[in-house]
Amino acid sequence: MILLRNCFYVLTSGARSAHEARPGAADGRARPEAVPPGLAGVDILIDKNRITRIGRGIPAPAGAEVVDASRHVVIPGLVNTHHHFYQTLTRNLLAVQDAKLFDWLLYLYEVWKELDEEAVYWSSRLAIAELLKTGCTLTTDHHYLYPSGFKDDLPGLQFAAATQLGIRFAPTRGSMSRSKKDGGLPPDSTVQDEDRILAECEATIKKYHDPAPDSMRKVALAPCSPFSVSERSMRDSADLARRYGVRLHTHLAETADEDEFCSSMYGRRPLRLMEDCGFVGPDVWYAHGIHFNDEELDLLARTKTGVAHCPSSNMRLGSGICRVREMLDRGVQVGLAVDGSASNDASDMLGEARQALLLQRVRYGSGGITAREVFGIATEGGARILGYEKLGRIEEGWLADLALFDVMKLEYAGALSDPAAALLFCGYDHGADHVIVNGKLAVRDRRLVGADEEEIRMNSAKVSKRLLEKAGVAR
Ligand SMILES: [Zn+2]
Repeated sequence: MILLRNCFYVLTSGARSAHEARPGAADGRARPEAVPPGLAGVDILIDKNRITRIGRGIPAPAGAEVVDASRHVVIPGLVNTHHHFYQTLTRNLLAVQDAKLFDWLLYLYEVWKELDEEAVYWSSRLAIAELLKTGCTLTTDHHYLYPSGFKDDLPGLQFAAATQLGIRFAPTRGSMSRSKKDGGLPPDSTVQDEDRILAECEATIKKYHDPAPDSMRKVALAPCSPFSVSERSMRDSADLARRYGVRLHTHLAETADEDEFCSSMYGRRPLRLMEDCGFVGPDVWYAHGIHFNDEELDLLARTKTGVAHCPSSNMRLGSGICRVREMLDRGVQVGLAVDGSASNDASDMLGEARQALLLQRVRYGSGGITAREVFGIATEGGARILGYEKLGRIEEGWLADLALFDVMKLEYAGALSDPAAALLFCGYDHGADHVIVNGKLAVRDRRLVGADEEEIRMNSAKVSKRLLEKAGVAR
């Protein structure tokens, strides 16, 4: 049991509707609210993996760990809906710092084809460590590279890393089947044939997928993108996912180049191709979703298909600005994501929420998105996309995934009239003091509970150096 004592402020949930996000919007007048929705000075009791009581002066049960939260803003744990953990080992490479997506991919595939067991294990630990330390409690990963020399159980290595660090993990089993010889982008040695992909996807679901409402291990299927996967692979993955009741994910509508590729290769726009493959629906979410037109946004809303918004990556690669404002107004399910670390290049989840807040305003003006809406997509929105129900709010009976940030610091002084929004508008240190996942502390006093941070840093740096040397791009 854990008792969070005397929380300075609790953000019980992000905004779930435009009206919630803009109090007073209905009568056209903004209402000055001294204290925005949330709770101040309450205790939160966590028993097993659920929040069981929220109130003032809750007596500490025998044996409970009591955490003084009087300096903290407590938020529902942040949810990351798209990542490529292995890219932590190839971030910030000089040769592609200024490249756009297709050129960036062509260069990096030549490095990534050297990925081995050690690289997958240490990059997974590294990415998860960064996510946890910045308030993330549930993440997916999209690993789609299975080099021909790779023999070990790749998802098994990732699940081992997640279990050791204590994060809730809902990764995808990715795949690529269209290499250069078939008009795709990846090198031949990094793709698998369609039958093998299907067999390995099925084996991964059977071995690791736990469909329970409080699952710590879910599996989804994720053919990489229209330019690295055959149409047959897309269809087969959708059929297999439906047979096992698991979710589906892919990259879509990320760049204008992708539109051109799909028009010339398939004679269709990317979303039309997905529709034809049965790859739309409430069990599907796409990464990026920048270049959808109005009719396509309506289709996403109608079919309840989700989008993982990746603001930093989209800015870094100059891909464009996702129409999140219009998606939310249409009722499209949106989640937040840091994306892979070769295009962000940080797994900083709180920082990503700030980027989402600012980037929408570049496109739509200062009223483009509210802080509460950003928290809504970064918590409950992401949880829905990854297939969780009672996750993403601080309410009795909901799963105990929370993050505590100390706001009694220089950078928040003068900003606490709206304590939760201060985490997005202010600050330069996105590290959480405490992070609780499934009722257990995964970060305590700013340090990982389940791992030695220095060991992760040293091993990750060593493996990265070896990988770059092997690919001939070392410093
Ligand atoms: Zn991606």
